[in-house]
Amino acid sequence: MCSQSPHFLLHLPLTSFVQHFLVHPSTMASGSTGSSGTTGTGSPCGACKFLRRKCASDCIFAPYFCSEQGPARFAAIHKVFGASNVSKLLLHVPVHDRCEAVVTIAYEAQARIRDPVYGCVAHIFALQQQVFVLVLVLAKYKTLFSRNCFLIG
Ligand SMILES: [Zn+2]
Repeated sequence: MCSQSPHFLLHLPLTSFVQHFLVHPSTMASGSTGSSGTTGTGSPCGACKFLRRKCASDCIFAPYFCSEQGPARFAAIHKVFGASNVSKLLLHVPVHDRCEAVVTIAYEAQARIRDPVYGCVAHIFALQQQVFVLVLVLAKYKTLFSRNCFLIG
């Protein structure tokens, strides 16, 4: 799994997402590209399966979309961004960052399908609101605590 994500807001929802998403989550942590081009079972990767094309040995999607669950997950990405655009985008991302890029793209695609206007920004707004409320609650308890300490002392 991607352990160095700068997207701290996305860690919680991504954790389970990543586990179901990647072909071999344990190999992704080391930055492996899984260059076999297939999922190891001889079948095309999930993206190529969805696109109904032959999965080349250097398929850029193969390490990230398994043959079984990959097509359904890739469908959202293709619908929102287009397979060609994602392929081009991934080519510009260093190999060791592609895992996080794919997870982020997939997450945004899912969010954009759920909420076509705001996408994952709606979730970020909700989390920011939650942080704001919790900061107020914390300040309230700090005040109460300091008053109690003052009364006791
Ligand atoms: Zn493929």
